[in-house]
Amino acid sequence: CGIVGYVGHRSALDVVLGGLRRLEYRGYDSGGVALAHDGRIASAKKAGKLTNLDAVLAETDLPETGSGIGHTRWATHGAPNDVNAHPHLDSAERIAVVHNGIIENFAVLRQELEAAGHELLSETDTEVVAHLLHDELERTPDLSEAVRTVCRRLEGAFTLVITDASQPDVVVGARRNSPLVVGRGEGENFLGSDVAAFIEYTREAIELGQDQVVTISADDVVVTDFDGNHAETTAYHVDWDV
Ligand code: GLU
Repeated sequence: CGIVGYVGHRSALDVVLGGLRRLEYRGYDSGGVALAHDGRIASAKKAGKLTNLDAVLAETDLPETGSGIGHTRWATHGAPNDVNAHPHLDSAERIAVVHNGIIENFAVLRQELEAAGHELLSETDTEVVAHLLHDELERTPDLSEAVRTVCRRLEGAFTLVITDASQPDVVVGARRNSPLVVGRGEGENFLGSDVAAFIEYTREAIELGQDQVVTISADDVVVTDFDGNHAETTAYHVDWDV
């Protein structure tokens, strides 16, 4: 339902939680965050209001890091409980994925993954993406390339935002039939399901087009189509109040 991604000089946890609060107006049933740090993913998620997530975070020692993602969920596949809340991780806890929308062909993908020995923990359509990315990253070390390859296999509607513990200097997003906006800052960049996610930090936005993948780092924004070709984007200044 609500998505935030961040890479930059601030505390990623603060930026992501602040962004999720600004997206609360959309309605949601669970919340969660993931931070890439020291070769592993640190994450926390909880059903219910963001205050429930705050309570979990108060008891979790999350690292200070400049790279993270967050989600507020509006359940479509699987009950609104802690396990089904996003982010979803691969079994090695290397990848964390948040998702808005519905992956229509998730059942076939899940069967294929389970036949290959993957153990999926949730009832969501989303979790397959983390496991597919894990396998893809055995073939290519580049997260953006792995995301493009996996997106070509997905059907339906998705905004995906992904962090990889072994590439903490980037966060990757992708979209089809569901919105994703980039916020451009100085030494920091943002992703959001809408501009409310980052409006307190920047009003310089880029609207991602259909079937595009974006890779943000602190200093750069690179957009391609699902085949890796350079893609045209529309940059604009947000001059209305949100
Ligand atoms: N289909 C996903 C789920 O049920 C994402 C729902 C959403 O857009 O928040 O977990």
